[in-house]
Amino acid sequence: MPEEIFDKVVKIAQSRGFVFNASSIYGGLRSSYDYGPLGVLLKNNIARLWWSSINDLDVSIYPVDTAIIQSSEVWKASGHLAEFTDPMVDHKQTGERFRADQVPEDIKKEDLTEPRQFNLMFETNIGPVKNENSAVYLRPETAQGIFVNFENVLRTMRAKIPFGIGNIGKSFRNEITPGQFIFRTREFEQMEIEFFCDETEEDKWFDYWIENRLNWYRNLGIPENKLRVRNHDKSELAHYAKKTSDIEFEYPWGWGELEGIANRGNFDLNAHQESSGKDLRYFDPNNETKFTPSVIEPAGGLTRTLFAVLLSLYKEEDLEKETRTIFKFNFDLAPIQIGILPLSKKEELITVCDDINGTLRSMFRTEIDITQSIGKRYRRQDEIGTPYCITVDFDTLDDKSVTIRNRDTMEQERIKIEDLSDYFKNI
Ligand code: ATP
Repeated sequence: MPEEIFDKVVKIAQSRGFVFNASSIYGGLRSSYDYGPLGVLLKNNIARLWWSSINDLDVSIYPVDTAIIQSSEVWKASGHLAEFTDPMVDHKQTGERFRADQVPEDIKKEDLTEPRQFNLMFETNIGPVKNENSAVYLRPETAQGIFVNFENVLRTMRAKIPFGIGNIGKSFRNEITPGQFIFRTREFEQMEIEFFCDETEEDKWFDYWIENRLNWYRNLGIPENKLRVRNHDKSELAHYAKKTSDIEFEYPWGWGELEGIANRGNFDLNAHQESSGKDLRYFDPNNETKFTPSVIEPAGGLTRTLFAVLLSLYKEEDLEKETRTIFKFNFDLAPIQIGILPLSKKEELITVCDDINGTLRSMFRTEIDITQSIGKRYRRQDEIGTPYCITVDFDTLDDKSVTIRNRDTMEQERIKIEDLSDYFKNI
């Protein structure tokens, strides 16, 4: 992927209202971002497609939405307080800090201090009195919220193994070297599943989830040649993992993680069981025994996926007199699915647009776009990835028909207003 795509996509994301620098009126906060109207729609669509894809499976995946601030005991038991660290080095002259494995190539090793471990969890205090018992942490992953609710879900949903629990939400890591736009930020969103199964079936479900998750990224429209699976070697494995494979995406600067799929064995449930004293075993009615299930974890990044989607679906096309830029979102994913454009600002035409919008907006994501010439409005809709535009012209007032323009082919067809809902329902 050419490097300049990065700059172009970041520029459009900011100028068209997908992503803004956080606190921009104060000069911005480094590596913190706000999602604008189109970014929120896109992020919500990705999250919705994640939930619906796991809803369609033959196995049950139960949703939870767990607290960002949990008891500190959770992070003690999970190993995060002791182990969730990155090696950090300082530049001896400039004082700049880097993650030891992410030092820019032009910096010499002898200019750096020895690496020391830095815990990535953000610490804060709960309640009015600040003392050693009031320390709490912003969660660095959504996964632990699932483990500590394992028994709650098992009991209330009468869940039978194999089953999963899914959680989407914000996570926080005090990354030493954030960067590359929203690829690595200190505040980001994750989409995680913990899938509980019998130990004898760990490998089967591990392979199943890799294939399932790869397919999900393909269905978002990310091309096959931009995706690959990379298996971790033993030295890379996190403290809880028996086996891990990353689904990687080819970013403009090279391959990088999109999602990690880990076999966590029964590490977490055992750890919480020992630490809390609660019985977190599963009762198997078939042979009347209790055991601690194994866990396969597909852990993806929602905001990182949004960036991968923008990078892969950005296209430029040379037309006769100009170049048009397009996000080729499919109909399900597009922030705006249908643009409704009056040919001119004449009130009769705008009234028809309002009527059409009134019918379509409960079923589809629509937008009436009035400002500028029709050609410029088509370009803007292309640039924000709107798959269809409806144009209302003066003939519409007589023939009760409108023109539908297809973003990708730019072909136009005339269709009766009364047939519009069915037309879009059948896409
Ligand atoms: P990396 O090696 O890039 O730091 P990780 O292996 O620590 O990532 P996991 O703990 O496996 O990441 O988290 C699961 C997913 O959460 C990642 O695949 C990624 O999509 C997302 N993620 C993790 N850290 C960040 C971050 N700082 N900013 C944005 N997304 C992140």
